[in-house]
Amino acid sequence: MRRLTFIAGATLVALGLLIPSAQAARKLRVVATIPDLKSLVEAVGGDLVEVDSLTRGTQNFHEAEVRPSMMLKLRRADALVENGADLDAWADVAVLGANNSNIVRGAAGRIEISRGIPLLEVPSVRVDRSMGDVHPLGNPHFSLDPGLAPIITQNIVDGLARISADDRQAFERNRQAFLARLDREMERWMKLMAPARGAKVVAYHPDVIYFLTRFGLVQVATLEDRPGIPPSPQHLVQIIRLMKADGVKVILVEPWNDFKLAQRVADETGAKALVFATAVGAVKGADNYIAAIDHNVNTLAEALK
Ligand SMILES: [Zn+2]
Repeated sequence: MRRLTFIAGATLVALGLLIPSAQAARKLRVVATIPDLKSLVEAVGGDLVEVDSLTRGTQNFHEAEVRPSMMLKLRRADALVENGADLDAWADVAVLGANNSNIVRGAAGRIEISRGIPLLEVPSVRVDRSMGDVHPLGNPHFSLDPGLAPIITQNIVDGLARISADDRQAFERNRQAFLARLDREMERWMKLMAPARGAKVVAYHPDVIYFLTRFGLVQVATLEDRPGIPPSPQHLVQIIRLMKADGVKVILVEPWNDFKLAQRVADETGAKALVFATAVGAVKGADNYIAAIDHNVNTLAEALK
């Protein structure tokens, strides 16, 4: 009987059920505002972290609604990883409701990713509401540009090490392993995209510019004449004319945007409308950082053959 009790006890210890949570090395609880950052925190944090995301990849991040479920996720978080550059400014509202001093702005556990990112499309004039959702700091959709992963993951390492200094080397090792893997993929992606270099592309919303620029493609226009506002008929007439003149073969559409409208423009111009993984989890199979980029490279390389 005693032996049995011992075995049962040992099993519980092995399962981690009897270790008092205060002394046990528990995983850092990290919450990311968007799934791209969740995936990268997982790559850097490995088994030292447990990561959740406040949004899903199929969502329009600009318009994420702050719900009680978000605050619940944030309540016990050790760290909040946010994109910044105004993409996920709603995180402030969620943090306000979470009542967790670990992650208020300025706290060690508040990790902003846009630090050090060379932002594109920084407006040269003063921004006001009449211009749509133009971001005063520049285009915030940089997370799926694999060329920026070194900066993004460095910010993650620095942020996590602020709250768990002993683990800095482990984070850095994980980061290096991830970047080495990404480098190998990048070589393959560059080869696949090489024939498409210089191709002109139209995007629905300006959230693919970093990706296109990385691979030498050119965004000639967006279907939206002002970001976040449905395109006007006059603008669409202009776009159709431009696409015909420039021989644009592809319109990239976010999973949350009006695909039918993009399809109509594509039919009119002989182009293809394609759903793009604008985030991790945005389309089937794009369930981590590398898989999402892989999906986009394959989709574009195939369409532009
Ligand atoms: Zn945007």
